[in-house]
Amino acid sequence: PEKDINAQVVVLGGGPGGYTAAFRAADLGLRVVLIERYPSLGGVCLNVGCIPSKALLHTAAIIEEAKTLGGMGVTFAPPEIDLDTMRAGKDKVVKKLTTGLAGLAKQRKVEVIQGTGRFEAPNRLGVDARDGKVSVTFDHCIIAVGSSPVKIPGFPHDDPRVMDSTDALQIEGIPERMLVVGGGIIGLEMASVYAALGARIDVVELQNQLMPGADLDLVRALEKVIKKRYERIMLQTKVASMQAASDGIKVVFDGKHAGEASYDKVLVSIGRRPNGKLLNAEAAGVKVDAHGFIPVDQHMRTNVPNIFAIGDVVGGPMLAHKATHEGKVAAEVIAGEPALFDPLTIPSVAYTDPEVAWMGLTETEAKAEGIAYEKGVFPWAASGRALGIHRDEGLTKLLFDPETKRILGAGIVGPNAGELIGETVLALEMGADMEDIGMTIHPHPTLNETICFAAEMAHGSITDLL
Ligand code: FAD
Repeated sequence: PEKDINAQVVVLGGGPGGYTAAFRAADLGLRVVLIERYPSLGGVCLNVGCIPSKALLHTAAIIEEAKTLGGMGVTFAPPEIDLDTMRAGKDKVVKKLTTGLAGLAKQRKVEVIQGTGRFEAPNRLGVDARDGKVSVTFDHCIIAVGSSPVKIPGFPHDDPRVMDSTDALQIEGIPERMLVVGGGIIGLEMASVYAALGARIDVVELQNQLMPGADLDLVRALEKVIKKRYERIMLQTKVASMQAASDGIKVVFDGKHAGEASYDKVLVSIGRRPNGKLLNAEAAGVKVDAHGFIPVDQHMRTNVPNIFAIGDVVGGPMLAHKATHEGKVAAEVIAGEPALFDPLTIPSVAYTDPEVAWMGLTETEAKAEGIAYEKGVFPWAASGRALGIHRDEGLTKLLFDPETKRILGAGIVGPNAGELIGETVLALEMGADMEDIGMTIHPHPTLNETICFAAEMAHGSITDLL
């Protein structure tokens, strides 16, 4: 090796889990090395995930919203779209955040090594860095290597017309006809972007609902809106084969919507696979399961006492806010603080148009598992604010424990649902009940008062001025 480094804590992977863990450990006085294979920190989330997708989705939402103003006597000409500027605008947001992270690392004296790291021994990682090999010995290690998009064997993934989410975020063009394989959050978010830009979208989903796992009432409200915007939503349908031809990607469908079609572009968004198998973890004795997940306890500790793992690679919902919280716990445990990853819930948000957000128990789960609940549902068609913004498709649903009246779960669909769900997460963590939420004075007219109204509906005492 050309260079030897010793670290009290080495963090492998510079995504939201990794950089949060590194910064927290440094703040707690530990000497930290952060290894990231790509030139910029931030991982999937900042570079090719949460942040660039939301920058594009904001643009898409405005394009769609502009169309709703016809009823107020304002019409706009169809948008003129310059993809190069759009891409540059999105990249600028990403760059600002990732360079910010580099500055924060420097400030904390976190040593960042760019290169791919692999275990070589129980207390040593080897890094193929740009300017030679680096050997890092460590007291503690935090594995934060994240996940990658799942590919389907036999699909022409090498053809540039067959995209994963990273390719789709590059918006190389606006296809006339586009197929989205997989109706989960990532697929539907990218579909929102391309539909707003003018592509004709088909979505194909194996399960009998979009966004499997989400409450059906919420998904129905979303579906009602996107059905009008997309060509076809094919549920209970499987892509049997996909072939690249010179005039398009030929797809054969099996199941409820059996048939064939040709597309200019296809987005494959059928899930993400953990990167746990790529680290030579066995050299350190770290257990990796058959899927590539690394099992951990509530301290984020693997089966090896001085090696921790966090984020997408440990399983559970693959979400940035889960990764960052786990990162803090791992760093604090290493520093000797009594930390534990023990959230009552991890909220999920689809930044589609309308947005879909949920947390805690869903009604689908409650029914499947025979959990008793009371519910309060407030349709946004009765919200003055929702009507004022021409968006009455929304819904706020709260579930309560019939005995204690404490909140068990919440689901919201409508514009800004992702912002609104935060209040219900706090309510759950604080053990708030129906009355706490119903009697808290919410500002009028807002969308957040629909949470208060839903609690009052459950309580059977809605009297407010809508
Ligand atoms: P990652 O972000 O995957 O980071 C892992 C890092 O480790 C990467 O930078 C990788 O290069 C590096 N690495 C891997 N192996 C090595 C190695 N051997 N050596 C050195 N470096 C290595 N989540 C949300 O909460 N909200 C959203 O809105 C959202 N939107 C998304 C949109 C898209 C299109 C995608 C794909 C994902 C989205 N996610 C979202 C999920 C979110 O991006 C992930 O949950 C999050 O990035 C996981 O963080 P992480 O730190 O575990 O891993």
